Amino acid sequence: KEDLIPIATLGKGSFGHVQLVKDAKNTVYALKGVNKQQIVDTQQQGHIMSEKWALTQLHHPFVIRLFSTFKTQSKLYFLMEPVMGGELFTFLRRQKYFSEEWSRFYAAIVLSVFEHMHSKNIAYRDLKPENLLIDASGYIKVTDFGFAKEVIGKTWTLCGTPDYLAPEIVSSKGHNKAVDYWTLGVLIYEMLAAFPPFYDEDPMRTYTKIVEGQFSFPAHFSQAAKGIISQLLVNRPSQRLGSTAEGCAAIKTKEFFA
Ligand code: ADP
Ligand code: MG
Repeated sequence: KEDLIPIATLGKGSFGHVQLVKDAKNTVYALKGVNKQQIVDTQQQGHIMSEKWALTQLHHPFVIRLFSTFKTQSKLYFLMEPVMGGELFTFLRRQKYFSEEWSRFYAAIVLSVFEHMHSKNIAYRDLKPENLLIDASGYIKVTDFGFAKEVIGKTWTLCGTPDYLAPEIVSSKGHNKAVDYWTLGVLIYEMLAAFPPFYDEDPMRTYTKIVEGQFSFPAHFSQAAKGIISQLLVNRPSQRLGSTAEGCAAIKTKEFFA
């Protein structure tokens, strides 16, 4: 690690500081450094372990590749494949909103990642445009597995971002991988609308709207878009599209993906 030379900052999240670095052979990597003390202070030890564990389980063209991990006295490091196109978040804010065609493309990538993860019983639990990175060919890679977790049955940890929280997380009912399909519904909505469905200046109002299922569609949404979003943003996890017996197959056959 001593021979990794920093080149630029790639991004910052609530835990990680990610830098573009190069080694002696001029090969570039993304290096995520996480402060050990901050992890202990916020009791996120489990999350850091699951980040490493999940990334070593997953091998998928749309999942960020982890090459190695190492630590120093004060920090934990993840050496990853660098993705240079920036966050989908930045691109979305710049474009304001995406066409249905583009939204379908990005949603299909996320869906294929979820299908792979869920086949290994891993729930992602942190879908949002900040964690989707655009690569050189315009595809996206899912990064940040800090909240990923092996879920067989249910789990109770509160995590995620207010606007993307599923109702069963807000009301602490215990949740499973069905939360990922909820967040897919939120993402499709936000890509098409420019703002997420339960947005409110007051985060407490956002929580109420989520639990009560209060949202409406902008006039330009197609029937196909409204159809798939309504079926993903279903309050009851067992009735949500993707988590019924047919699984992901039921999502793929929707008109939105036709
Ligand atoms: P946190 O757990 O703190 O949210 P992330 O893993 O999401 O940290 O990383 C923070 C930001 O760094 C991301 O939102 C993204 O902008 C950038 N980033 C993360 N991984 C990479 C990568 N492999 N290549 C390029 N940028 C990255
Ligand atoms: Mg993040």
